[in-house]
Amino acid sequence: MQRRKFLKASLIWGAAGTELLASLRTRAQSLQQPLSLHTRFVRRIVQRMTLDEKIGQMTQGELNAIKDESDIENYFLGSVLSGGGADPRAGNGLIAWTDTVDSLIRRSMKTRLSIPILYGVDAVHGHSNVIGATIFPHNIGLGCTGNAGLVEQAGHITAIEVRATGIRWSFSPCIAVPRDERWGRTYEGFSEDPELVRQLGAAAVRGLQGADLSGPLSVLACAKHFLGDGGTAYGSNGRSNRPGLDQGDTRVDLATLKRIHLPGYISCIAAGVGSIMVSYNSWNGVKVTGIRELLTGLLKEELGFEGFLVSDYNAIHQVDADFKTAIRKSINAGIDMAMEPNHYRLFIANLKELVMEGSVPMSRIDDAVIRILRVKRALGLLDPNRRQTADRTLQKSFGSPAHRRVARQAVRESLVLLKNSANLLPISRNIRHVHLAGRGADNIGMQCGGWTIDWQGRMGDVTTGGTTILSAVRHALARGSKVTYTLDGTGAGDANLGIAVIGETPYAEGVGDRADLSLAEEDVAVVNNLKAAGVPVLVILLSGRPLILGEVLDRADALVAAWLPGTEGQGIADVLFGDFAPVGRLSFTWPRSMAQIPIHEGDKNYDPLFPFGYGLGYT
Ligand code: BGC
Repeated sequence: MQRRKFLKASLIWGAAGTELLASLRTRAQSLQQPLSLHTRFVRRIVQRMTLDEKIGQMTQGELNAIKDESDIENYFLGSVLSGGGADPRAGNGLIAWTDTVDSLIRRSMKTRLSIPILYGVDAVHGHSNVIGATIFPHNIGLGCTGNAGLVEQAGHITAIEVRATGIRWSFSPCIAVPRDERWGRTYEGFSEDPELVRQLGAAAVRGLQGADLSGPLSVLACAKHFLGDGGTAYGSNGRSNRPGLDQGDTRVDLATLKRIHLPGYISCIAAGVGSIMVSYNSWNGVKVTGIRELLTGLLKEELGFEGFLVSDYNAIHQVDADFKTAIRKSINAGIDMAMEPNHYRLFIANLKELVMEGSVPMSRIDDAVIRILRVKRALGLLDPNRRQTADRTLQKSFGSPAHRRVARQAVRESLVLLKNSANLLPISRNIRHVHLAGRGADNIGMQCGGWTIDWQGRMGDVTTGGTTILSAVRHALARGSKVTYTLDGTGAGDANLGIAVIGETPYAEGVGDRADLSLAEEDVAVVNNLKAAGVPVLVILLSGRPLILGEVLDRADALVAAWLPGTEGQGIADVLFGDFAPVGRLSFTWPRSMAQIPIHEGDKNYDPLFPFGYGLGYT
């Protein structure tokens, strides 16, 4: 029966889906050409470059920190980024983004060598900074689909929407292997399992980059954050107000570091990833950004990575208290491009001095520039006969129904059914009265989580289009069925079913580090109120990680982990009403209590609430 549902779902997917699948099949068959093919060509350019031009290529500033746009030409900047929330001054719409990026590209082409800047954004679950984009489930949800084809397709659609704004580079996929769910970036990782991350990371790269980086629908991917970002020890980042995991210290030997955190890089490199972002975290007390053994020894020499390494946002500053020393250590370790949102001028001046003094060899500078220009050439950026500004005809597909259908499919497959007493699910469309409750029921922002429009995300109306769970349920029910809603779950007495949508308020990075992952009291009260009304209760959890369910698991008759599904809430209704049987399987172990964390499959005395791989179907 489950299989039949699957077939039916692919029919719902429609013609657009079939077309997309066909294009993916072609893309999967051909491999990216090795970047070294471009070495001879770019070496000739590098020979003609001044030191200022070379260092400029190695420098990335941030959109709103570039006070004077002429800095692009005057400092020969190689790249500009928009970090989370760094929207164009003209606003956060499609046109404002495209106009802004196009104008910076045009400026960069006025330089002597006419090398366009490479603009970078965090399109981490769709083109998630831009209003109206298709927002996919965060990686934790994609991890539960276990479906590499779908992850590839999500990457492909993200790439199309990114290209619609003229941007050529996304800081994704995040291939962290989060080992402690108190970490605020757990949801950015596909799984606690290196093998699943290995498969899905490569799929995401194939989707973003396509078969050929120079293709009209391809963007440069960036596997991040190298290495060991998900393995930091509790309390190791020296910040006392939080659990201290983010940007902390990964305390393991080299063999363990490689076993857990490296497989994703190996597969992404095999898939042709052109850039890798180096992590904030330390390895046994030393910041990875300054560790030559890992960046040059392991990544470039041992694994043969031919793309370029970009440092994380201001990460070089953490390598040493003295900025110039930090730059020397980082560049000599193997950083090729410095993400220096605000201090790019200072970075340039210091690196120039370091080269003149002989503390950073010219051969290192040339290697970095060759790596960056090889990628630019592969992207077609060095081709004088190509238009480098946006192809605005792509804008008609931005946030289109065809793209949203794929995101909806990803939502369906990401849901993990954890409990279903007395087969409460699927719900009949003819049910007389459903009462919804909880903060998440009518809340696009909470559904999307962090890295959505704002860096930290936002509760409520994030001014982006999509379908909330409440409206999806309304839409799915037969005419004549009644839907009511209260925030706190009171007033459900007349209903035949209560649905509590509860979970986490959006967050990103260290802001989401939490020592206690228990459900909020307010959320527990919603479930209690529904229960007190004597109705069967379905709990839908919107969260970036497994939470401690406590008494809520007993009180719920059915429970669905929906993760951070993004804008397409209909995908949830599709499963609730049985159009699509649940297929999601836990990509993280679900602990019983805080005392069990950290917990992973393979631990001695492994006794979780739900094991890795758990998930019910409807049969
Ligand atoms: C994050 C990266 C992100 C970068 C640019 C950093 O704070 O760690 O994942 O790509 O910002 O926004």
